Amino acid sequence: MDQLPLETQESPSLPDNLESLKEIVSTCHLCDLAKSRKNVVFGEGDPQARLMFVGEGPGATEDETGRPFVGRAGQLLTKMIESVLQIPRSKVYIANIVKCRPPNNRVPTPQEAESCLPYLLKQIEIVDPKIIVALGATSYRWLTGDKTPISRIRGHKLPFKGRILVPTFHPSYLLRNPSKKREAYQDLLLIKELLWEE
Ligand code: SF4
Repeated sequence: MDQLPLETQESPSLPDNLESLKEIVSTCHLCDLAKSRKNVVFGEGDPQARLMFVGEGPGATEDETGRPFVGRAGQLLTKMIESVLQIPRSKVYIANIVKCRPPNNRVPTPQEAESCLPYLLKQIEIVDPKIIVALGATSYRWLTGDKTPISRIRGHKLPFKGRILVPTFHPSYLLRNPSKKREAYQDLLLIKELLWEE
């Protein structure tokens, strides 16, 4: 993957608060995804969350509503957060690698992801979570630049910008492969344990 890992990128000109950043992102035309989107999906949640989930990009329902993870995969993610981690969804922060929907839910191109990554970097900087959960291979690869398959790297506790990164399966993948829910459950138990550690 020809990419600049998020850790090495800088976004000096972006504002240091979520509201102003959201205003900028909502009118962004830095990549071609702006042409086909209905709504920009900035991200949502507790601005001081200790736990942040990063997905790949908005799907159809997210594009319609302007909210992240509200379709079927989002419902599963909410269940994972509330039933297993036992915290309300409103207490975590949820964002994506790209803020606009790739047509037909294709994987974002390197140009699209590179254009959008500084926004995510700024969100991470502002929210300052203790733990970041990379949901799926695309999220993990763009955050770290590492091509290790998600099936091998999932469930690992990795250092990331002074925080902890835990990769796991994307909820959409779990909907297509329910037998993998067991491993995702183990990852959630690790995340729960890390959250309680000081
Ligand atoms: S995907 Fe990101 S970079 Fe591309 S237009 Fe949307 S907000 Fe801008």
